[in-house]
Amino acid sequence: MYSFDIQRPTSVADAVAALGTDEAQPLGGGQTLIPTLKQRLAAPSVLVSLSAIAEMKGVCTMDDGRLSIGGGTTHATVAAEASSYPALAALAGNIGDPAVRSRGTIGGSLANNDPSACYPAAALASGATIVTNAREIPADDYFQGMFATALDEGEIITEVRFPVPEKGAYMKFEQPASRFALVGVFVAKFSDGVRVAVTGASEDGVFRWSEAEAALSSNFSADAVPAAPSGDGMISDLHGSGAYRAHLVGVMTKRAVAAAS
Ligand SMILES: Cc1cc2nc3c(=O)[nH]c(=O)nc-3n(C[C@H](O)[C@H](O)[C@H](O)COP(=O)(O)OP(=O)(O)OC[C@H]3O[C@@H](n4cnc5c(N)ncnc54)[C@H](O)[C@@H]3O)c2cc1C
Repeated sequence: MYSFDIQRPTSVADAVAALGTDEAQPLGGGQTLIPTLKQRLAAPSVLVSLSAIAEMKGVCTMDDGRLSIGGGTTHATVAAEASSYPALAALAGNIGDPAVRSRGTIGGSLANNDPSACYPAAALASGATIVTNAREIPADDYFQGMFATALDEGEIITEVRFPVPEKGAYMKFEQPASRFALVGVFVAKFSDGVRVAVTGASEDGVFRWSEAEAALSSNFSADAVPAAPSGDGMISDLHGSGAYRAHLVGVMTKRAVAAAS
């Protein structure tokens, strides 16, 4: 690990100011960033910890019914407090292990946008809004490929707003060593249609499976899930081939619909 200074502001405004300095980087729960630093794959001169910013923590229901989650809220807190959105609470409760869940944050997960992470599927399937210190970004515009997002340098995810569907479920086929998703599918049924988001499978990161969305919007049943997509463009690695992952997309979607029903 290269040496760095650390700052621990107590407000979003102070964090933004601290991130204005050269080569400063936000630190959430450190579950991804600290191992990266240990491997000397990043060398920020300043880490700006977001862990003391009270305004970025907590779960509450907004007047319009959406669930608001502070960007610095840990997975464990979401699992415990997002009871009005059971599928989301269950997803958070199955991330990694207790140590990861007690430190890792929703803002860190969405900023990192790991192609096998769970929260990106929830945000995309729910049509969530990613709120930063500067703007509000619809999930459909936020995810821009593997580890790529719409965030600008120094921009902080302060909050995520989730519309709560009538029915929803997340099913992941776990990579057993890490519990990341080999393939994970989040299905959300709203009054005006169904959204289906897939993580872990595509070389382009999380994506919406439009054929399944159209079929399930007409008939919300596991039997209506279309044939699995092609393995072209799917991740192929030591854990599974692209064709295997494509097959899992179909299987996990059926299981998610069955669980939501
Ligand atoms: C053993 C293990 C198992 C895991 N299993 C899973 C799993 O099953 N499913 C899953 O989804 N994830 C899993 N993870 C990842 C975990 O969810 C991490 O918490 C997450 O990827 C990063 O969140 P963090 O708060 O720790 O961010 P950090 O590691 O602190 O930061 C990650 C990146 O996000 C940036 N950042 C952090 N917070 C913000 C913010 N609020 N705004 C803008 N940028 C920010 C940082 O600068 C950095 O670039 C696992 C991790 C480990 C170590």
